[in-house]
Amino acid sequence: MYNNVMEIDVIGAGLAGSEAAIYLANKGCMVNLIEMRPKFQTGAHKTDLPAEFVCSNSLGSSDILSASGLLKEEGIRLGSTLFKIAKEYSVPSGNSLSIDRFGFSEKIREIIKSNKNINYTVEKYDKINTSKPTIIATGPLTETTLSQDIKNLFGEEHFHFYDAVAPIVEKNSINFNKAFYASRWDKGEADYINCPMTKEEYEKFYDFIINAKKAPLKEFEANYFEGCMPVEVMASRGKDTLRFGPMKPVGLFDRRIETEYKKNQFYAVVQLRQDDKQANLYNLVGFQTNLLWKEQKKMLEFIPGLENANIVRYGVMHANTFINSPKILNPYLQSKKYSSLFFAGQLTGVEGYCESIITGLFSAINMERYLSDKPMIELSQDTMLGSLIAYITCENHKKFQPINSNWGIVNKIDGDKKKLKDKKFKNSLLSKRALDETDKIKKLLEEETK
Ligand SMILES: Cc1cc2nc3c(=O)[nH]c(=O)nc-3n(C[C@H](O)[C@H](O)[C@H](O)COP(=O)(O)OP(=O)(O)OC[C@H]3O[C@@H](n4cnc5c(N)ncnc54)[C@H](O)[C@@H]3O)c2cc1C
Repeated sequence: MYNNVMEIDVIGAGLAGSEAAIYLANKGCMVNLIEMRPKFQTGAHKTDLPAEFVCSNSLGSSDILSASGLLKEEGIRLGSTLFKIAKEYSVPSGNSLSIDRFGFSEKIREIIKSNKNINYTVEKYDKINTSKPTIIATGPLTETTLSQDIKNLFGEEHFHFYDAVAPIVEKNSINFNKAFYASRWDKGEADYINCPMTKEEYEKFYDFIINAKKAPLKEFEANYFEGCMPVEVMASRGKDTLRFGPMKPVGLFDRRIETEYKKNQFYAVVQLRQDDKQANLYNLVGFQTNLLWKEQKKMLEFIPGLENANIVRYGVMHANTFINSPKILNPYLQSKKYSSLFFAGQLTGVEGYCESIITGLFSAINMERYLSDKPMIELSQDTMLGSLIAYITCENHKKFQPINSNWGIVNKIDGDKKKLKDKKFKNSLLSKRALDETDKIKKLLEEETK
């Protein structure tokens, strides 16, 4: 507090940091926005502009019946500047929101520079002052000295350097005429979903996977992958390597096949492990992969039971700094250990441009409320944002990995089961429910500023 004005440091003028800084400044806070570029570059950024889009220029679907479209609409209703400007700088791309990236970032720079409440400094931030209100939004390529400081504050085990993610699918798209629940050797509960293969099926799967196309690695990513082998690399080491690794069939029995029970039933098995609290999402165990997304979709066609599975998050292997949010953050994106410290953006374990922007906004809303002694905002899992926040701050992950917006993390909706089979109908109800709740928060925020 300086002359009764709240002073906040926002670290990183990327997507989340720019959104957070603008929100706080518009609320009358004094913001020190600290960005290291262009003095120090990240390896992916190319400019000295804030809110740079490092790769694609697309923010995904603009249809509010899609997960990404709904997330953006929630952000707009909660007062996002970046989503608003993205619309102004959109370029034609069908049903998606894609932008003129330079025009967009130039405009954000202008907004930041012309805001008298934002003090923009080009500087590498190395050490967190835990007693000063601070939002850390340094993204997936957080510079190493700061990374080390975060590790010192929260413990080495709560800091991760890269995504090694296996595809995650929606349970209700799995074919249980083929897949079955079981744990190896029937130990404990039958927690895993198992997709069994015959020799012939395995050979077809194997032929596909060793020939499938991979995503190119960036130079700065290449040395991260030693400790965690992609499934396609494992396959390339020998025809049976997967059958003795993640696709090991021993001890997995389908009780429905009475006569074969407890014999070696299968040649290979793909196992899926529960990924969310509500058991809507399952990940393919040991299937971290760098295959192109379209190849991952095809790969599932070779796995009995997953032929039509809906992938909610593709496998990726890339440099990605993120903290163990379930342990470190509360549902306001505030550090549990240091109450003046908030986090935002991809560093919190969300994945994607839109997710980073909206968590920047959410973190800033709550920072301002925290400093003004107002109750902080929580959204339920009826909303896409609330579902994302719940996912990244909920403690029951076996292995926490980043997530993007998807319908699998949202609360189910009640109603006529037959009608709900129509995806469009179902999503229109989900979307309405989410936006009704968002509007209540919007109203609350607006009334407070009157
Ligand atoms: C190579 C790559 C490609 C990606 N492609 C896509 C894509 O196509 N689509 C998609 O939806 N998502 C993509 N992402 C994921 C993600 O959406 C983006 O990285 C997004 O920019 C994250 O937003 P952010 O605000 O969290 O971080 P950023 O936008 O990266 O912002 C963080 C800022 O902090 C600065 N910074 C870092 N450390 C310090 C420090 N110590 N001191 C001061 N400043 C610091 C950085 O220079 C940067 O400007 C990609 C990520 C990477 C790494």
